[in-house]
Amino acid sequence: PHSKPRYERILLKLSGEALMGDGKYGISPKTLASIAQDVKDIVDLGVQVALTIGGGNIFRGVSGATEGMDRSSADYMGMLATVINSMALQDAMEKIGVPTRVQSAIEMHQVAEPYIRRRAIRHLEKGRVVIFAAGTGNPYFTTDTAASLRAMEIHADVLLKATKVDGVYSDDPKKNPTAVKFKQLSYIDVLKKNLKVMDSTAISLCMDNDLPIIVFDLTQRGNVRKVVLGEEIGTTVGR
Ligand code: UDP
Repeated sequence: PHSKPRYERILLKLSGEALMGDGKYGISPKTLASIAQDVKDIVDLGVQVALTIGGGNIFRGVSGATEGMDRSSADYMGMLATVINSMALQDAMEKIGVPTRVQSAIEMHQVAEPYIRRRAIRHLEKGRVVIFAAGTGNPYFTTDTAASLRAMEIHADVLLKATKVDGVYSDDPKKNPTAVKFKQLSYIDVLKKNLKVMDSTAISLCMDNDLPIIVFDLTQRGNVRKVVLGEEIGTTVGR
């Protein structure tokens, strides 16, 4: 029924774990290829696409810190992990003909451009996918917060938060059969009920700047396209 995209410019947030596929660690080439194809599908619709990827499939700052590492050092390691994921996704996308630029919040000239907001927007206008790597470049933050921040900076119409479930539930649907799925939620409800959408810093940032968030299941091929075309398959968080 829908064929015209609802959004002009989107920011898609993937967790590092989204790249693992069935594995317990690292990157699955098969999953990577499938995500790249999903992204290509929406680029082909004429949508401008920016991506932010987590690093949880390789390293998470908090787990390093619980094992005695300085939290900031551990977080920098986590940010470097997101650069690895970003490069992997860039490679997968360019293989199928999608021009892609990685911009890193931590300078790394040999492998990525530095993050330059205006340049990122220029890439998007030219139809290139821009991957924002290294989170915000600051410890004590998450890639969800980085995704919200970058979405604001580039004036994205929406933040698409990819997960493994088809939306936000009142409880863990795998453990509690009475858990219900929300179609629509307010930022305040997410914060008050402590629902697992994104961390509170990320949610607050979206709330203060009225950026809508759509939580959806990325493990189903074609779902990103559906969301972009306006099908209501996940949970929308807004005012
Ligand atoms: N990180 C950080 N600052 C940022 C973004 C990320 O310090 O702005 C670190 C943090 O240690 C985090 C890790 O990078 O645990 C990986 O990112 P995240 O946990 O958000 O990845 P995801 O859960 O989405 O895979």
